[in-house]
Amino acid sequence: MTAPIAFWLAGREATGEETFDVTNSWDGRLVGTVSVPTEAQVEEAVAAAHAVREEFAATPAHVRTAALDHVAKRLTERTEEIAQLISAENGKPIKWARGEVGRAVSVFRWAAEEARRFNAGEAQRLDTDAGGTGRLALTRRVPRGTVLGIAPFNFPLNLSAHKVAPAIAVGAPIILKPAPATPISSLVLGEILAETDLPAGSWSVLPVPNDRMPALVKDERLPVISFTGSGPVGWSILDSVPRKHVTLELGGNGAAVVLADWSSEADLDWAAQRVATFSNYQGGQSCISVQRVIADASLYERLLPKVVAAVEAQVTGDPSDASTDVGPLVSEDAAKRVESWVDEAVAAGATLLTGGKRDGATYAPTVLADVPAGVTIACEEVFGPVLTISKAEGETAAFAAVNDSPYGLQAGVFTHDLQTAFRAHRALEVGGVVIGDVPSYRADQMPYGGAKQSGVGREGVRYAMDDYTYERVLVLTGL
Ligand code: NAD
Repeated sequence: MTAPIAFWLAGREATGEETFDVTNSWDGRLVGTVSVPTEAQVEEAVAAAHAVREEFAATPAHVRTAALDHVAKRLTERTEEIAQLISAENGKPIKWARGEVGRAVSVFRWAAEEARRFNAGEAQRLDTDAGGTGRLALTRRVPRGTVLGIAPFNFPLNLSAHKVAPAIAVGAPIILKPAPATPISSLVLGEILAETDLPAGSWSVLPVPNDRMPALVKDERLPVISFTGSGPVGWSILDSVPRKHVTLELGGNGAAVVLADWSSEADLDWAAQRVATFSNYQGGQSCISVQRVIADASLYERLLPKVVAAVEAQVTGDPSDASTDVGPLVSEDAAKRVESWVDEAVAAGATLLTGGKRDGATYAPTVLADVPAGVTIACEEVFGPVLTISKAEGETAAFAAVNDSPYGLQAGVFTHDLQTAFRAHRALEVGGVVIGDVPSYRADQMPYGGAKQSGVGREGVRYAMDDYTYERVLVLTGL
């Protein structure tokens, strides 16, 4: 038997008493056996982070940027190995896994750049009132304290990077908790962090079991929680610690609107290809996947066959094969849930245009039309390779349809018209509007996050750095 994969406790490798297995959802093979920290070890990591917080906040920027640059360099050098690992533990097609490593490199590079400029502060004159004569205010941002970063399974490396890199950039200790299905790539990130000169105690990667998370969430020494994952878990965290600084990056049911002016054959071909790719990207397990296409009535009949053909062209299969577009979902249970939602919609009168079949953990790329309001798939995040398509009479109705959702993460609007773009930006109740493409576009430096049930707060390197810190003012008197 091979030794279990160690976790990272206050910057050093450690193992606990229990383990759990991580398996590949495509073929069921064992990817690795991961050691679980004991309660005492978690306490040790939290205490170490708390003890080092002032020292870490005072670490010179060149030390933190050197560490961030080092991680970017090593992730680049180890891209293929880490991509294979992400693909194995997550079931993600290898081409998307390679892209994920590239995104994580970009997050660490951006964090290094931002750390170089961060916290120069500003001076503000106070002598604009008589009482401020001879006074000057200086500002600087200081870390709120240790960050508890909780990551989901769907981008196990990149969404861990979005927790860790901004924390290092501002000098806030971080305890990273990876998802149980996909902890190994985060543990490899730990291997790379261990090569840096960051102070011992300033970071840990701990695969803590879910049933022990509520106690950790409530620990007063962890004043910042950065959570990416599902709504029920995210909102229950906020409810349990309403006075903590909590960022929630939750789900969505992303809409792509195709408006009347997006009507040439080339326009429709592009829109069809983009929605087909990004409803199936990672088996639809992306918070900004395309779940809903809302097409102007004037072009609906022309767009529909193109969307179906583009979805049918998606190659489903072994995630380790470079030609695969759509791999398995994270588990067979996840695929069964998607199947039950599609079956419910079809039983209620929806038209199944393609797909609708499950093979183990793999669900076939699926398109539904005429979906009745009120069925689960019309309201909730499907988190699977399923697209619904509907028509709207004009822009106002299309935007109303986008907003007719409990979620508000991102929306895509296919239009050539600048005025429409501005109206979309004003009208759509989402964290981001993408013009000329699907809602699934994200650059890692952009502010990113949701409205409504899609969450609170923003990620995107600099925005997370703002989130992890607060402004402290220094008033000088007698000048
Ligand atoms: P999940 O909510 O099941 O798990 C997320 C993380 O929370 C995991 O690390 C899990 O172990 C942990 N967790 C579970 N119970 C907990 C508890 N009681 N207290 C604290 N932590 C707990 O989500 P998932 O299935 O891993 O991820 C899928 C979800 O994430 C989808 O809804 C998706 O839309 C969302 N997501 C959102 C974004 C975004 O940026 N908005 C990005 C990716 C994924």
